[in-house]
Amino acid sequence: MLIEAGTLFVVAAPSGAGKSSLVNALLEREPTISLSISHTTRPPRVGELYGRHYYFVERDAFEKQVAAGIFLEHAEVHGNLYGTSGTMVQEQLAQGRDVLLEIDWQGAQQIRRSKPDCVSVFILPPSRAELERRLRGRGSDSAAVIEQRLRNSREEISHAHEFDFILINDVFDEALADLQSIVRAVRQRSALQWRRHEALIAQLLAP
Ligand code: 5GP
Repeated sequence: MLIEAGTLFVVAAPSGAGKSSLVNALLEREPTISLSISHTTRPPRVGELYGRHYYFVERDAFEKQVAAGIFLEHAEVHGNLYGTSGTMVQEQLAQGRDVLLEIDWQGAQQIRRSKPDCVSVFILPPSRAELERRLRGRGSDSAAVIEQRLRNSREEISHAHEFDFILINDVFDEALADLQSIVRAVRQRSALQWRRHEALIAQLLAP
């Protein structure tokens, strides 16, 4: 019998804050979390694979999927469309697995409306100069794309206060430890623990 639903984690950050590296390292430490693979109309970067990093689709196919209602949330980010398909997320949560979405602030707002129990985390870079350095150092985007992402970072950051947690990704290992501690704390919430340890509690309360 299913006694609990999984937790939906939402992680957002301005481009270049180190969100994907932190999330990937978190998933190595917490392999029971499922990462949702988004759909996007953005062209793949070198090394990116269909179905592993994204489901890369044409804009008209994406728009048809929007019309068909397959997305839990979707948004236009840096001139491309991105969306989270609802099927995998709902299935995993129903099976009691935690799911993590790496999405932007617009998607996070939509998720908060439909899944108010979600836990959202915003990652900030330690400075503007460092954000710029990381974006340029990635080497996978054109100068125009980097400029656009830098311009858009202000809007993304202005929504950080809407999230449950804000992390500063200065020293990577410290930010990773903070992110992991959020996941672990959330998993010990009493509403979950009370149901999870029903037998223990019954035993402890027995006369
Ligand atoms: P990138 O092109 O660098 O992979 O991602 C650009 C931005 O789009 C990032 O802020 C990323 O979190 C966001 N993003 C990726 N997938 C989704 C999604 O499914 N929905 C939304 N709303 N944003 C997404």
